[in-house]
Amino acid sequence: MTTSSEQLARIPDTHLPRIVIVGGGFGGIYLAQTLSGVNAQVVLIDKNNYYTFQPLLYQVATSGLESSSIVAPFRKFLGKQKNFYFRLTEVLQVLPEQGLVETSIGVIHYDYLVIATGASTNYYGMADIEKYAIPLKNLNDAIQLRNHILEKFEAALQAGNKEELNSLMDFVVVGGGPTGVEVAGALSELRSHVFPQDYKELDLFRMDIHLIEASPRLLNGMSDEAGKNALAYLQKMGVEVKLSTGVKSYDGNVVTLSTGEQIQTKTLVWGAGVKANPLKGINPNAILKNNRLKVNAFNQVEGYENIFAVGDVACVIGETTPNGHPMVAQPAIQQGQNLGENLKRLLKGNKNLKPFKYFDKGSMATIGRNKAVADIGNLKIGGFAAWVIWLFIHVLFLVGFKNKLFVLINWINSYFSYDKSNRLIIKR
Ligand SMILES: Cc1cc2nc3c(=O)[nH]c(=O)nc-3n(C[C@H](O)[C@H](O)[C@H](O)COP(=O)(O)OP(=O)(O)OC[C@H]3O[C@@H](n4cnc5c(N)ncnc54)[C@H](O)[C@@H]3O)c2cc1C
Repeated sequence: MTTSSEQLARIPDTHLPRIVIVGGGFGGIYLAQTLSGVNAQVVLIDKNNYYTFQPLLYQVATSGLESSSIVAPFRKFLGKQKNFYFRLTEVLQVLPEQGLVETSIGVIHYDYLVIATGASTNYYGMADIEKYAIPLKNLNDAIQLRNHILEKFEAALQAGNKEELNSLMDFVVVGGGPTGVEVAGALSELRSHVFPQDYKELDLFRMDIHLIEASPRLLNGMSDEAGKNALAYLQKMGVEVKLSTGVKSYDGNVVTLSTGEQIQTKTLVWGAGVKANPLKGINPNAILKNNRLKVNAFNQVEGYENIFAVGDVACVIGETTPNGHPMVAQPAIQQGQNLGENLKRLLKGNKNLKPFKYFDKGSMATIGRNKAVADIGNLKIGGFAAWVIWLFIHVLFLVGFKNKLFVLINWINSYFSYDKSNRLIIKR
């Protein structure tokens, strides 16, 4: 045991049952909100003191939004709940037999534990990619990517030869899911509308954007039509899309593809997959492929009565979901809310729990101005209509009135001015 496991984290003593939620993403915050006013102490633990709206990270990375618009401090929007406590720390492991979580500030006792730790970037064991590629999974990644893109253009102004110039101005984005498609589209908009003015000395025709996808189509989680539309939009925007193509290696200068082709670039954005973040100490038998935790219909982790998991880290295997639900926001939100209702029942001694049923509200991705795709039930929408729906849904789900307002103002301004005004290189 480490020192931290010997000391008790200072959380007010209570005679009430304590519910500890690890992770304040979509799953964790909707759960905490559902538990407002219950007869229990709710303790949220996260390694950041803010919630991040991950679907808009790519806009921070490509200078479209300022970082503060897509995050919200937990204490600000949950602190009003009387039974709510927050601790900024990382959970190192669970000690299920003792009903404790070990954190970097000491151990915390729980009566009910909810693991909502989400997922992190999956490099599929490729050490070179992990070393040189830029991921996009959290706010820090988004700011680093923004810095990197802008720094490459600043360096391009001083490039000594054409080869160096090309490698600074060319971008490779890996992964044809929503993240890759959105980043590639946003880079293309920078090339068309922002960089010609900012870097007038550079020939923007030299800026190539490659999108690499291992499967034969884009947006695998969506309909064929959405995939085809996204491909057509990106090609129209001058993105070079390579389907059925994998990345074999990257040394920081040259990307080698499965076809043998090599691309010189100083920028490889890795959006090719995620793996769940289970906590140490959980029975390994409950950990499935891709690190997700096997949970039952009540989100109870296999082998435990009082340990639950929601969101990306949870895999609710059912007849219609042999591989669990997609690792996107809605399953996390709905699981958080359903578990909240079930915990209320448990607190009242009612063991008749409500099984989780996923209501698929559809999926969408945006490619650029007036260009998005949306699958809503049997409706397959593209173009301007899908783009408006995308804007509306994203503003709706942002946390906090100020964020909604700022994002809306930013988008209206960008729409009419074609500008992306957050072109800041922020160094340590
Ligand atoms: C770039 C990007 C774009 C996306 N776009 C979309 C989209 O358009 N639509 C969509 O539906 N979904 C999208 N997603 C997926 C969606 O964001 C996730 O499915 C969702 O965030 C999962 O919620 P969660 O609560 O499971 O985990 P997360 O939101 O990832 O939250 C996990 C939290 O746990 C904390 N944490 C992790 N480990 C520890 C630990 N040991 N100790 C303390 N705290 C810990 C983290 O700091 C984090 O706050 C996108 C994801 C990314 C990265």
